Amino acid sequence: MFEHMEKYAGDPIFRLNEAFHRDAHPQKVNLTVGLYYDNEGHIPVLSSVKTAEQRRAVEPAPRPYLPMEGLASYRDAVQKLVFGPDYPALRDKRIATIQSVGGTGALKVGADFLHLAYPDSEIWISDPAWDNHHSIFQGAGVRTHTYSYYDPETRSLRFDQMMSELQALPRKSFVLLHACCHNPTGVDPSPEQWLQLIPVLAQRELIAFVDMAYQGFGTGLDEDAFAVRAMADAGLTFVVANSFSKNLSFYGERCGGLSVMCASAEEADGVLGQLKAAVRRNYSSPPAHGGQITSDVLNDADLHAAWLREVAEMRRRIAFVRKEAHGQLKTKLPGYDSSYFVKQHGMFTYTGLSSQQLQILREKHGVYIIESGRISVPGLNTRNIGYFTDAMADVLG
Ligand code: PLP
Repeated sequence: MFEHMEKYAGDPIFRLNEAFHRDAHPQKVNLTVGLYYDNEGHIPVLSSVKTAEQRRAVEPAPRPYLPMEGLASYRDAVQKLVFGPDYPALRDKRIATIQSVGGTGALKVGADFLHLAYPDSEIWISDPAWDNHHSIFQGAGVRTHTYSYYDPETRSLRFDQMMSELQALPRKSFVLLHACCHNPTGVDPSPEQWLQLIPVLAQRELIAFVDMAYQGFGTGLDEDAFAVRAMADAGLTFVVANSFSKNLSFYGERCGGLSVMCASAEEADGVLGQLKAAVRRNYSSPPAHGGQITSDVLNDADLHAAWLREVAEMRRRIAFVRKEAHGQLKTKLPGYDSSYFVKQHGMFTYTGLSSQQLQILREKHGVYIIESGRISVPGLNTRNIGYFTDAMADVLG
């Protein structure tokens, strides 16, 4: 009955990751998947999470279904984290927020919601994109297009081009924007550029869908939310997906949030109802364990303070590795401009390496980088960075 169906090619990043694990190279380096590793090469269990879990394990509680929209304490904490604790719209109840199944679940529910609200609208996504953005919106019935974003020549943002393309979009189009730490390029608009872009969204009546999967990994938890908060200040109606996969090192627990900024409490109430309906027909209710732990970490003063320190530590390590890679490449490859390592932010750096160079890195040196040339920076640490920069020098020299 299903023989006619096309084979799923799988995700190329996961395929390469599997090839890495099969490789017997003694000094192999994995820079493929977007996971944060500590300096020992481990995915950290944050102490804030560990303490919250130990506290809950003392007296295991029953596991009823959570409400469709998730835990109230979790949703409140998401709003404070995304918009800032004192933001007036929180008090005015103008934001509809649900606990989502990771950032991906937030994107899917948000896509379903937008398609229901504006069935004829289409979405514009950065070029290049996190590939799943296209898949998720297409899966929700929304046609996808791209807008200019990254200039490989200058390794920076094509801001003027992006602005003029956004200015020409049909009214009520959806625009997917990354709040910070753009995946895959690591290139973000500056605060000044966001302040130029936001009036275009308002004038053209575009509906921004802001994806914030890496809050805290760029410049800081508040700084990384600059675009979201500036849009809120400008009075826009827009959607935000946030994720705890990276900043809580909570990938498999599938915790995130979806927030829709509305013009009034009444509108937000109606929107929340539609978000719940979308959840009900997708997966009914979000996961309880991860939701409870996330809520504990964000709402308990001590755990929250510990978590802030842990996010800062992850951010500092990424910045250190970037600086170190830049410094070593400057010495080993004097003619090569590696300043992109320090100019780009967050987990990812776009190297611009060719397919052939990537193949040599992989086959000769056991250094695994995905086909686009994107490096997941936290795969580097004090033990392997010298080996990595030697391999780069061999390929680029
Ligand atoms: N959005 C972007 C840009 C991402 O890079 C990712 C994860 O890699 C996500 C969303 C999804 O996050 P999650 O793993 O929480 O579903």
